[in-house]
Amino acid sequence: MASESDVVDTSTLSCANCGKPANLQCPKCVELKLPREGSAFCTQECFKFSWSSHKSLHLKAKLSSSLSTVDLGHQSSVSLGEGWLYCLKGGRARTPKLPHFDWTGTLRPYPISSKRIVPAHIDKPDWADGGTPIVEPSSDFQRIVEIKSPDLIQRMRETCHIAREVLDAAARIIQPGVTTDEIDRVVHEATIAAGGYPSPLNYHFFPKSCCTSVNEVICHGIPDARKLEDGDIVNVDVTVYYKGVHGDLNETYFVGNVDEESRQLVKCTYECLEKAISIVKPGVRFREIGEVINRHASMSGFSVVKSYCGHGIGELFHCAPNIPHYGRNKAVGVMKAGQTFTIEPMINAGVWRDRMWPDGWTAVTADGKRSAQFEHTLLVTETGVEVLSGRLPTSPNVFPWLNSS
Ligand SMILES: [Zn+2]
Ligand SMILES: [Zn+2]
Repeated sequence: MASESDVVDTSTLSCANCGKPANLQCPKCVELKLPREGSAFCTQECFKFSWSSHKSLHLKAKLSSSLSTVDLGHQSSVSLGEGWLYCLKGGRARTPKLPHFDWTGTLRPYPISSKRIVPAHIDKPDWADGGTPIVEPSSDFQRIVEIKSPDLIQRMRETCHIAREVLDAAARIIQPGVTTDEIDRVVHEATIAAGGYPSPLNYHFFPKSCCTSVNEVICHGIPDARKLEDGDIVNVDVTVYYKGVHGDLNETYFVGNVDEESRQLVKCTYECLEKAISIVKPGVRFREIGEVINRHASMSGFSVVKSYCGHGIGELFHCAPNIPHYGRNKAVGVMKAGQTFTIEPMINAGVWRDRMWPDGWTAVTADGKRSAQFEHTLLVTETGVEVLSGRLPTSPNVFPWLNSS
């Protein structure tokens, strides 16, 4: 959604880069409540040009505001190398100690490794250096659903194909004993090898290149030093930025031998996404997606997460339309050919309610029971839908229900 605070009174401020009258204000400075002098710019160009020096203002402001201390948790300390710390406050601050929290299940955060490097030749989105998206929040496409040009659609096909191959590479290494940080390394390296940028990296200061959500984690889990255990389920959510566009998909995988209820949960979630995709075509109301998903999930005794939704995608990572996955939602508008968006239902074994870990990212179920998710990036065509992130003949054979032919 466009922020009112991005537009300031032009009469008093001058551009921090060139001195001309300034009508834009750095959103990070607004968030940190820094003085308006020094945070105004005349154009996006001047803002981008100044960014590498300007962002030091944000760092200084953050260092002067003290980080609250945390007590030692009940987790035995893990001995790891330099740079491994717990994530606090959206990845902007880190601590050597486990924060205190009323954990809803048995999962705990583990230390995270230091930030991975992206080579200079890779084309990056505008948050890669500063951590704050600049173009995305104020774009018209936060309220208007863009009809994509054939050229943009072709680029999205290529990017989604890369994202699919990256996710498949991650799926192939999943087994007991593998850490989610190792999954992140595979995602990071495969993305860069394909010439792409891992979109989550530094997006609103997210510290890693993908999300890994284990057991009771609904979404946005941070890859860390925890080893996957026999019986876990783990969702890996990959987004790639390539040729100026994003491609976003995720799948939930079984780690070793998984109990029957979790198997049913994951299968049901897969089916919820398939059923939702099957209704996509021009003229269908966006709010219908949630009805289809809610019907199938409740039929199996599961619940649908309400706090996180599907989203428009393209040159922006997240934009209009917003796609709720729950029933009786208030989403407005109908689908039109040329629109691209994700559907990504999160289905819980117990209650639908979510809670947030102290890291500001990890969303967990309120009752600590398990949650599963699947996601595709879709294109509405004249006659129906094209699944841009669809499975490939080479995709690993990890879902038993796809084998019965
Ligand atoms: Zn995703
Ligand atoms: Zn998404």
